[in-house]
Amino acid sequence: MRLDRFIAHQPHLSRQDANLLISAGRVQVDHHVRRDSRLEVNEFSHIALDGTVLQNGKPARYYMLHKPAGYVSATCHDEHPTVLDLLTDTDTQDLHIGGRLDLTTTGLLLITNDGRWSRRLTQPGSALGKVYYVETEKPIGPEYAEAFATGLYFAYENLTTRPAQLQVLGSHAARLTLYEGRYHQVKRMFGHFRNRVTRLHRERMGLLQLDPLLECGSYRALNSEEIRQV
Ligand code: URA
Repeated sequence: MRLDRFIAHQPHLSRQDANLLISAGRVQVDHHVRRDSRLEVNEFSHIALDGTVLQNGKPARYYMLHKPAGYVSATCHDEHPTVLDLLTDTDTQDLHIGGRLDLTTTGLLLITNDGRWSRRLTQPGSALGKVYYVETEKPIGPEYAEAFATGLYFAYENLTTRPAQLQVLGSHAARLTLYEGRYHQVKRMFGHFRNRVTRLHRERMGLLQLDPLLECGSYRALNSEEIRQV
């Protein structure tokens, strides 16, 4: 919400009071005086008025995980361990997964408690490409790249997939860049040619690349530059 709205929600303060306090330099956001009433604040912002803390701001958490096969991209599951089981954090309640991967898929997974941040990556129409390394059962034909670039019709959702780029790396291996995340999308795209995906690994989401130093099953916090890249 806007800063003036947040201040006006305090007892005995009107929107006009809020604007006067902000322009007088009496409001601090994240320990800096902010005079812009329209500034966006959220649950992570530290907000003070005349030095009195109005909201502490909960710590925002952003993790990059190298997902192994056999872990579900969900917060709880009856049958399989979840990716949250790989974290040493005890407080996993408000964490969620930005861009799920199938049980057998490996690679880059982002976990955060900042919903707005992860939506930027995963919302349909996001210009941020997700890059997958793919291995297949049968040879990858020359017709695949054009079909993927044109888009394939998915009858279940009644939609045509957005143009995707295929870089063939070998007879049974390719790198595929998608700009959306439909259910089992990569497998269904190759399935269109009756070609089964035998290995699927996400290498990149937007500018965020899976850290080559991260072993399968391990994770690390993103640095501020990486958080800004999304
Ligand atoms: N497409 C799939 O088919 N599976 C994934 O895990 C990710 C993309």
